Amino acid sequence: MMRTAVILLGPPGGGKGTQARFLSCSCRFPAISTGDILREAVGAGTELGNQARRYMESGALVPDELVDGIVEQRLQREDCASGFILDGYPRTLAQARFLEALLSRQNTRTVVVGIRVGNQALIHRLTSRWVCPMCKKVFNAAQNPAVAGSRCDECNTVLVSRKDDSVEVIEERLQVYERSTAPLIRYYSEKGYYREVDGEQPVEQIAQAIGRIVGSACAEV
Ligand code: AMP
Repeated sequence: MMRTAVILLGPPGGGKGTQARFLSCSCRFPAISTGDILREAVGAGTELGNQARRYMESGALVPDELVDGIVEQRLQREDCASGFILDGYPRTLAQARFLEALLSRQNTRTVVVGIRVGNQALIHRLTSRWVCPMCKKVFNAAQNPAVAGSRCDECNTVLVSRKDDSVEVIEERLQVYERSTAPLIRYYSEKGYYREVDGEQPVEQIAQAIGRIVGSACAEV
C-alpha cells in the first residue's frame, strides 16, 4: 500500500496545529510538529534545544540541517508506516527538497494543503493564543476569554502562552513566512501537489475541507 505524506502549509497562527489534530483523529496518521519537537528539546535543555533556542526566541528559522535531521528520524518510526501529517515542515525550499529526496526512496504520495489566512486575522489569533504544554491543544482567548491562564479541557494541564507570540516576534515570524516559506506554494503547485483551503472559515468547516482533500488523494492509486 502506498504511504501518504500530508503537508500542512500556512503562516504562523494559520491553524496548522489545530487542523493537524483534527486530521490525525480522522485519518489515524500521526501529526508531527517540528515546532513542538523543538520546544520540547528547548524545555528539556538537550543539545538540540540549546542549538535551536536563540533562533526560536527571535522568530528566525532553525537551520535546515537540524530540522531535517529531526524529521528524518521521526519518519522512521513505526507509526508513520501508512502515513503522517507534517505541521510546520518543510518551511524552506531546501527542506522541501530534502524531504522529497527522503520520500522518493519510499513508496509515498505527497498532498500539500495550504491554509490561507490574512495577516490581520493571524496577528489577532497569535496575540490571543494559549496552548497546552502537555497535549499541545491550541486555545484562543479572543473566541473564549475564559481560557486565558486556565486549564486544558482535554488533559487538565495549566495553559501557557508561547514566548514567541509577542508582538515583535510575531512581526518577524510573519516576514520569515513570506520570505522563506510562501515560495513553497509555487514549488508544490508546479508539481501538482498543492491544494488550498480558506483558513478563515469556522474550524470545523476547514477540517471538513481538508478531510475531503486528503480523502480523495488517498483514494487515488
Ligand atoms: P511553530 O510551532 O511551527 O510555529 O514553530 C516555532 C518555531 O520553531 C519557529 O518560529 C522556528 O524558529 C522553529 N521551527 C519549527 N519548524 C521549523 C522548520 N521546519 N524549519 C525551521 N525552523 C522551524
